[in-house]
Amino acid sequence: MDCIFCKIINGEIPSKKVYEDDTVCAFYDVEPQAPVHVLVVPKEHISSAAFITPENSAVVAHIFEVIAKLAKELGLEEGFRVVNNCGDIAGQTVKHLHFHLMGGRAFSWPAG
Ligand code: AMP
Repeated sequence: MDCIFCKIINGEIPSKKVYEDDTVCAFYDVEPQAPVHVLVVPKEHISSAAFITPENSAVVAHIFEVIAKLAKELGLEEGFRVVNNCGDIAGQTVKHLHFHLMGGRAFSWPAG
């Protein structure tokens, strides 16, 4: 499958990994939008949040445990933003489910 995040997970494309276990991988975004910007992804290829089902949703709960752990490790005690873009209209450019963990600056709301 021609998926850039699958290739990062498999080590075919280099990345700066900050966390990895049997089901989840986290690595730094190449175009950071905040002083800390990490992508947390399931190793299983799920195309987007629209394809989360009762069969595969356990990994999403695990991703949020990883996010909480990484936020502490990366010094984001003050707070952080987690973003998921789902579909072209929302700005999803990589069609492999991922959550942006961003911190180290203030964020406005509502997001544009
Ligand atoms: P999204 O636009 O929500 O689909 O997010 C995709 C993110 O992947 C963007 O923030 C990109 O900067 C990031 N990205 C694309 N290619 C790579 C790569 N090879 N390594 C790390 N991050 C990447």
